[in-house]
Amino acid sequence: MLENVRCALCGADDTRLVAEIDALHIVRCRKCGLIYVNPRYPEGFLQEIYTEQYYDHDGIRNGLEFFGYDDYISDEQNIKITFSKRLKTIESLAHKGRLLDVGCATGFFLDLARSQGWEVLGSEVSEFSADYARERFNLDVRLGTLRQLSLDAGSFDVVTMWDVIEHVVDPLAELQEVWRILRPQGVLSIITPDSGSWMARLLGKRWEEFRRVREHIYFFSRRTMREMLQKAGLEVVRMESADKVFYLGPAIQRLKYYTWDGAVTSTAAKLVYRLGLDKVRVNVNPLTKMTVYARKTE
Ligand SMILES: [Zn+2]
Repeated sequence: MLENVRCALCGADDTRLVAEIDALHIVRCRKCGLIYVNPRYPEGFLQEIYTEQYYDHDGIRNGLEFFGYDDYISDEQNIKITFSKRLKTIESLAHKGRLLDVGCATGFFLDLARSQGWEVLGSEVSEFSADYARERFNLDVRLGTLRQLSLDAGSFDVVTMWDVIEHVVDPLAELQEVWRILRPQGVLSIITPDSGSWMARLLGKRWEEFRRVREHIYFFSRRTMREMLQKAGLEVVRMESADKVFYLGPAIQRLKYYTWDGAVTSTAAKLVYRLGLDKVRVNVNPLTKMTVYARKTE
């Protein structure tokens, strides 16, 4: 069932093992340094995992600790605060016009961008999420991967791709497709785990993003990301570590991914809930993801 793949950045087939998790191998290309899962599950299998449960774990938590989202929909307000900050950055870099959100999930960002005057379109592989976005927000969301949609060349001012590229089977082809549909000077925004971050290097096999090998198949560093963007004709204009607004309760619970002592974390979490502080909003920057803005140069 598993398939072997070559390095998506340089085409070499020469790797060393970085970690073995859930019987899958995370390897590093000896030639260019790109980290990826090899061998891996084929594309069809990867698409079938994005069901309703992917966005809400209640009731099926067993064995799915490192998978999907705990409760994406009820976190809407926090997600929108995070998104509105990102939109401000985008608006400082790009002409306001047409925006495509690749992997738009339940449409929270598209709804927000539209309210700020953008003309928006979404693509999504999860039927559950696409339906939710259409019914709740009346958004135009197309089911499928970016390349399956065959959108018009040069038709977007901005493409956002947040928490997506690490799931994509051919990331270079995906970025080349983004290049094709962007207008000249159009801007791409990517968020993805940063395998070169000191947090990732410190945690090694314990890094949460590595533990998600069933869904994450590429782990970029800032350097490999920049190189792949360049190959696709996109020039990096800004790179930073991604922050995110959480409620204090879930934020403390997430500490279990970053600490070796689960008992301390669970005691702290219980205390926060007992004191009624769990719904206090905090802005967390776990320093493990990068936000990248790149421009179509030609
Ligand atoms: Zn390589």
